[in-house]
Amino acid sequence: MFYKYETHLHTSEVSKCGVSTGAEMVRAYKKAGYTGIFVTDHFVNGNCTISRKLPWEQQVELMARGYENARAEGKRLGLDVFFGWEYSHNPYAADYLTYNLGKDFLLAHPDLCKLPFRSYSKLVRKNGGLLIHAHPYRTADYIYYEPNPKVNLIDGVEVNNTRSDSPHNHNHLAWELAREHPHLIRISGTDIHSTVRAGLGGVAFRYRIQSNQHFVDALRAGDGYLIIDGRITDQEGNLVKEAV
Ligand SMILES: [Zn+2]
Ligand SMILES: [Zn+2]
Repeated sequence: MFYKYETHLHTSEVSKCGVSTGAEMVRAYKKAGYTGIFVTDHFVNGNCTISRKLPWEQQVELMARGYENARAEGKRLGLDVFFGWEYSHNPYAADYLTYNLGKDFLLAHPDLCKLPFRSYSKLVRKNGGLLIHAHPYRTADYIYYEPNPKVNLIDGVEVNNTRSDSPHNHNHLAWELAREHPHLIRISGTDIHSTVRAGLGGVAFRYRIQSNQHFVDALRAGDGYLIIDGRITDQEGNLVKEAV
């Protein structure tokens, strides 16, 4: 038996590109047979609905709104909802999924957007956060191709974003990167913006994840399986079992 989790999810409350609300996402993932989701909306330095002119406390409150709405619906339906975000590092616009940190961390660090990536990485990891480079080789008009991902400043890489053959994400290059650097944790994520893709990606475990820290520990222990194109695979992308 597998417990399935979406690792890369956007809500329309916080992400400008988001189509579905947190509550709609929860209903879709419950229906798709998942145990939980990690809400990873675009950070205020990314494609975010929040005005940068607001006081930092207010920006933080608004940044958690998609998560909080999802969490309320998750409680009602029995789906576990966790908080994370997708930090954009400008000017290269590389995107980093950040897990295991909460509002208290954000409130204590109002200068997060001004930090060079090296400092962001150091601060996040010092505080127990987990940093995953999302779709490191994506080509799109808003993002630069990152020829040299900063492998020492990250904990892992999203080897599979959206679909395995997704033309803009060049997932095969992300796989190569992970194989070259075995210390990197491997995850898969749908990067879902609208409920129609629910069930495509994520990670799975043979046990239920109890907390953000437990998620990090489980990944570090190598207990994660990948959900790729709706099917569960091992860490090499080999099919374990047909998804139901
Ligand atoms: Zn987006
Ligand atoms: Zn994303």
